[in-house]
Amino acid sequence: MEEIVVRVAPGKVRIKDGHCPKGCSLMDDAVKLSGVPSIKVEASLEGRRAPLHLNALYGVHEFRTSLPLRAGQVVEMFCPSCGASLTDPESLCGMCKIPMFAIQLGDGGQVEACPKIGCHNHKLVVMDLDAQLGRLYDDELKPIM
Ligand SMILES: [Zn+2]
Ligand SMILES: [Zn+2]
Repeated sequence: MEEIVVRVAPGKVRIKDGHCPKGCSLMDDAVKLSGVPSIKVEASLEGRRAPLHLNALYGVHEFRTSLPLRAGQVVEMFCPSCGASLTDPESLCGMCKIPMFAIQLGDGGQVEACPKIGCHNHKLVVMDLDAQLGRLYDDELKPIM
């Protein structure tokens, strides 16, 4: 399948149904960021693991975790329910050249984000049959379509 990267202003799109590749819901009503249920993942760094909550507003770079993270560190993300890796080996961060992690959306698309602390690279990708258009807009530096 081909993908199309959708441009949206930060905070305008809310991820309401994020899940892992196996289908577990990642939404956490108990921890709200910006007043909405957060996305809960299991973060791993240098052998330590802890829950990490992401702001569900697309483009808002906010997270909470007990891990002492510093800029430049690369965190691995897993599903807190089934343990599946959220890393998408086919999607590299255009700046860091490392695989992004992905939150699956209910409509067949996904939100991808760079797992390096301090890198704010992210994208919203939807599947579409129009392969040509998908390639045209696959670079995160391209303008709004
Ligand atoms: Zn899962
Ligand atoms: Zn990056």
